[in-house]
Amino acid sequence: MFVTTTKNLVAGDQLFLSYVSKLHAYPKRKEVLSSFSFKCTCRLCILDQTELENNFQERQRLAEKYDPEYYAQAIRGSANTMAQLEKHIQDIKNTYVDPDRPHTMEVFMPLITLASLYANKTSFPEKALKAYLECMRILGFDFDVDEYKSKQSPPLSTESMNFIVQYQGSFDDIHSDIFIHICKHAYSLGYEKLARIALSISRLCAKIFKGLSENEHDKIHIGVGFPKQILLFHDSTQLIDK
Ligand SMILES: [Zn+2]
Repeated sequence: MFVTTTKNLVAGDQLFLSYVSKLHAYPKRKEVLSSFSFKCTCRLCILDQTELENNFQERQRLAEKYDPEYYAQAIRGSANTMAQLEKHIQDIKNTYVDPDRPHTMEVFMPLITLASLYANKTSFPEKALKAYLECMRILGFDFDVDEYKSKQSPPLSTESMNFIVQYQGSFDDIHSDIFIHICKHAYSLGYEKLARIALSISRLCAKIFKGLSENEHDKIHIGVGFPKQILLFHDSTQLIDK
């Protein structure tokens, strides 16, 4: 059996793994965990305990309003589809007691679709970046985006940096793609440091999840529209527990 960890270990350290994805809704997580006789007291579960039963049902109803086929079509959608998705996301968020709290998968699917739509309509790069960053937060990555958003003038030196990012979640192959989108949009908007940290996390995810080297990772993304200059940076990111 092989295990890839998200941080360095020393002999004797305890290993943790998720029994259930944090992206599932609370009732589902609770059901799975109770079959292992767990009562989870993580930050998300504590928050979810304050949510109302009716809201879980309403959120579930909203999440089922659109099927995978809808999202497959929506990617090629118009301004109308964007407005529809914006409203749908807001409707789902309104089912939470605190609409600004961390969200789960119900918001993720419409949000990532909306992000791609914003990205395809080049007049909305800020909106695309914001939506991808929110997807990143849903996946469990947490860092102060504003700290990295200052525009660099003159450009940063190519000297390597080491970033530290709080992370709590389970890895999935979608992670690397989201960070590549963040990297591309941040760079095009002049947020060089944000682009660098995103690239670094994308490479880290590709390494952990697919066993790809930096070179192999970069080769996949060099193509139409991806800024080659950013690939000159070789920063590293360390993931730490929240
Ligand atoms: Zn929990």
